[in-house]
This record gives sequence, C-alpha cells and structure tokens, in this order.
Amino acid sequence: MAIRKIVTEGDPVLRQKAKEIDPKELGSERLRQLVVDLVETMREAKGVGIAAPQVGESTRLFIADSPDGPIALANPVFTRRSKKMTKDEEGCLSVPGQFGKVLRHRSLSVEALSAEGKPVKFDAEGYFARILQHEMDHLDGILFIDRIKEQSKGK
Ligand code: ZN
Repeated sequence: MAIRKIVTEGDPVLRQKAKEIDPKELGSERLRQLVVDLVETMREAKGVGIAAPQVGESTRLFIADSPDGPIALANPVFTRRSKKMTKDEEGCLSVPGQFGKVLRHRSLSVEALSAEGKPVKFDAEGYFARILQHEMDHLDGILFIDRIKEQSKGK
C-alpha cells in the first residue's frame, strides 16, 4: 500500500495516449498493487476518480467513485453516449486550484475489464457518467481544461 505522487499539468505523461493493458497482466501483483495505490491516492487527495497516468503510469486503467463505491476499470470503452449533454463543474487532482463547467454526455454505456480481468458492462448517468468521461479523457491525454477551451471557442 502506498500513496503515489500525483503528477500535475505540464508533465508529459498526462498528454500521452495510455497503452492498452494486456489482459494476461490483469490479476497480476503489479496491477493489483496499482489499483490499491490508486484508490488510496484518490481517497487521500479527496478525489472522486483517478486515472493511472495521473500517478505516472501510462496504462489504460482508472478508478471512479460509483454509487456503490470505487471501481477499477481496465481498457474501458464507451459503447453508447447519449445525445443529451449536461454542463457541470469539474476539477482535477492534476490541475490543482482550477475548476470549470464542462459539457458531458448525460448517460453512457461502458465495457471494460475488472482489475481481475473479468469483463464488466454497465450503464451510467449523471455525476457518475461525468466522472467516467473525465477519467477516460485522461487515458487519451485530454484534460478538462482542454474541453473548456474548446467549448469557449465554439461560442
Ligand atoms: Zn482529472
């Protein structure tokens, strides 16, 4: 168990497209430890989600606070995104002190692998769906402040 250092904006790892996890690696000690560390680091920082790149690991894994507690998702994909969008305040452990309203899909469907390598599939909406989109962006090298910039350009 270890609390990891959260990297902040300016660190190149936050701008990389994170690598797919080899499913054979799921359930391994390394991955298990990474999940434990991510959950602890997220709790310590009082976050509602954290992605592996935020602790310097460019790998497609994140933790999101779900209505049932934190869940770990590996190689996640969105198989559906609602047309309905919603705007709400976001912040990020890697962009301390900045907050802003971000437009996100209201609901979506997710497919991923659990930390043990089991397939998971579920629908999410509202705040939980927002967390998932924010964390998914981290795996693609996108920060919420980019979304805000993009939104203001369109007006
Ligand atoms: Zn973030």
